[in-house]
Amino acid sequence: MPASIGIALPTRVKRAADLLRAALRATLDLALPTLCPACREPVEGRGLCPACWSKLSFITRPYCERLGIPFVYDPGPGILSMEAIADPPAYRRARAAVRFDDISRALVHALKYGDRLDLAPMMGRWISRAGRELLAEADALVPVPLHWRRLWARRFNQSAMLAATLSAESGAPIAAGALKRVKPTVQQVGLPRSERALNVQGAFRVPAESKAAVAGRRLVLVDDVLTSGGHGRRLRAGAANVDVLIFARVADPMRTSI
Ligand SMILES: [Zn+2]
Repeated sequence: MPASIGIALPTRVKRAADLLRAALRATLDLALPTLCPACREPVEGRGLCPACWSKLSFITRPYCERLGIPFVYDPGPGILSMEAIADPPAYRRARAAVRFDDISRALVHALKYGDRLDLAPMMGRWISRAGRELLAEADALVPVPLHWRRLWARRFNQSAMLAATLSAESGAPIAAGALKRVKPTVQQVGLPRSERALNVQGAFRVPAESKAAVAGRRLVLVDDVLTSGGHGRRLRAGAANVDVLIFARVADPMRTSI
């Protein structure tokens, strides 16, 4: 037997085994129904089951034109919330698709930690609808980056997945390297406001090679949930203005009635 066959055979066997494994996985994917990411019930197609879908709380006007926090009643066009006046954010405007609650939290977690990348286009389309006005004026989209260590562990950045859908829907290009995360931060959700600000302080910077790409541009930061405006402040140093588009935000109507 020529030596070359002796070497080639195990490779071929391995390739056949890989193919078999891939085929099995595809069969299993077909056989196993998709589960609703919120209640784990089987669903037709993808996304939420009808019951969870009906509980999802989309944010619509009237809301604060600056922060995007919904008002309990309509105070008239262009009115800002007390929060926006008392503590103006670093960004110009923020819009979120849905309120942060049990259902939207389940979607965010499924996308982030549950390998449900298939949810990103649906969530991205909802964000795109909520941020239509912001996207119409955007020069570029900036997905909020993960620290490389977290990116390495998770293999993907959920903000970049959402930004890809927003870019396809709006035609605005993605400026992926415009912002770098220079230190890892603990998860923002559930932290008090004061700790959240500390948590992101110094976490982001605009790398030297991206300063020209940011200068004078109208940028839209894209993230899954709204954290403190730390990264908005960093980008604003050079950009013409920075808007923020997120999937879910905490919106407490008791605190935002004016
Ligand atoms: Zn459900």
